Amino acid sequence: MDGSKTPVTAPVLILLGPPGAGKGTQARMLEDRHGLVQLSTGDLLRAAVAAGTPAGQRAKAVMEAGDLVSDEIVIAILSDRLADADCVRGVILDGFPRTTVQAEALDALLQATSQRINAAISLEVDDAAMVDRISGRFTCGGCGEGYHDTFKPTAKPGVCDHCGSTEMKRRADDNAETVAQRLAAYHAQTAPLIDYYAGQGALSRIPAMGAIDEIATALESVVAQATA
Ligand code: AMP
Repeated sequence: MDGSKTPVTAPVLILLGPPGAGKGTQARMLEDRHGLVQLSTGDLLRAAVAAGTPAGQRAKAVMEAGDLVSDEIVIAILSDRLADADCVRGVILDGFPRTTVQAEALDALLQATSQRINAAISLEVDDAAMVDRISGRFTCGGCGEGYHDTFKPTAKPGVCDHCGSTEMKRRADDNAETVAQRLAAYHAQTAPLIDYYAGQGALSRIPAMGAIDEIATALESVVAQATA
């Protein structure tokens, strides 16, 4: 490089918000529209639990209780995935970082590869509505599309709009008691990251109580600015 040009790096976007804020739904929409890779540490951990890996075995009970899995396990899982070839397209981090230790580890990982965070976007919601949002949600086992009994039902009951699969899954931790603990963990350990990213000048806040498409439109303009 001749030094006069800024290297073009793939976008790195972070979605912040409590469980039920719509991070997964919006991340999938961004993935479709921009060809970015959605990295959900929740999905990576559920896959590790299902595969019975040592990390999965350690994480299982913690996840069932609605607590946060150790930084050590999550950072290892995320950094492995981030090193995969497809991530050069750019990533949307959904559910990571969730602690200051994870945020600092991410900064170090990105610095090592001359990358940076383009935007940390906080989806702003009312806690009181989150239990209803979470307890009605389910996912297609075929393609992973997310649905909700009330807010985003399938067009034909029990059949995925995207891939036609009839295998629908509900998460074990999407029940009222666990959700209360997950919200508490969010406020105690993750909400401080809003100030962390504000301090880096990377934070945007988006009201996220409206319709999925309205939130997507607001998100789109933040992403366009952050990746321009
Ligand atoms: P999620 O799918 O993002 O709602 O995550 C489900 C569960 O996985 C959480 O309640 C935590 O137990 C665990 N988890 C996911 N991401 C993280 C993370 N970054 N740090 C710690 N625990 C996590």
